Amino acid sequence: MSALPILMYHGLHRETSSRGRFDPVYSVHPEMFARQLDWLVQQGHRAPLLEDALSGSGDARDVIITFDDGDVSNVEIALPLLLERGLRAEFFVTTDFIGQCGMLAPDDIRRLAAHGMGIGSHGRTHAFLSDLDTTDLMAELDDSRCRLQAICGRPIDSLALPGGRGGERELNAAQRLGYRHLLGSVPGPNRRRRGDAWLQRLPVTRTLSLDDFAALVHWRGLPARWMQARHAALALPKRVLGNDGYQRLRERLL
Ligand SMILES: [Zn+2]
Repeated sequence: MSALPILMYHGLHRETSSRGRFDPVYSVHPEMFARQLDWLVQQGHRAPLLEDALSGSGDARDVIITFDDGDVSNVEIALPLLLERGLRAEFFVTTDFIGQCGMLAPDDIRRLAAHGMGIGSHGRTHAFLSDLDTTDLMAELDDSRCRLQAICGRPIDSLALPGGRGGERELNAAQRLGYRHLLGSVPGPNRRRRGDAWLQRLPVTRTLSLDDFAALVHWRGLPARWMQARHAALALPKRVLGNDGYQRLRERLL
């Protein structure tokens, strides 16, 4: 089975004051995003929807582009750049953020869907699913999906884990509710895809150079190894401090 690189973006922001919610790590400069897309096109990659890549029509050239959280730059900046190049992306929206300052409104989500983009759930409140009891977990997964289905008028069957926190329990719960495509944020190339595991994703960060971006997509060299080592190193403070403690530490460090 060939690899399936799945890129994970958040917002696209030129500077801290740009529209949307700037994040010092995850906000990618719009010009860098355009260069990354141009590189994908030059390399002959296609960017289909998950559904198409994972069904019979998948192809070794496929790269999946995803966005988490529902930042307004998804529609204002990413959408036109994708359309100009004939690329598609999956947008994972946290439904309690809809309509908040700097975030997508219902009409924006409908616009993304109308242009052939994928829409998926990123939880209702962005709570880390592994912190929740079963009732709250089911509500996060079900309420967010129902709201997105009402907005888009079509079934929603993909989920990206808020904060990448979750394991088997969360996967089983999502599958019981009918989610079919489940994305985590453990870095990797998805070489061995199984129906019962979270798909790996490649986080695109603000300081990633174009060369390192290329190495990540093709999963080779130092950037790939560095990303796996970094993820493994962060797993320890996450476990020791718990999700809340880790989040506070991250905010202080940034
Ligand atoms: Zn998120």
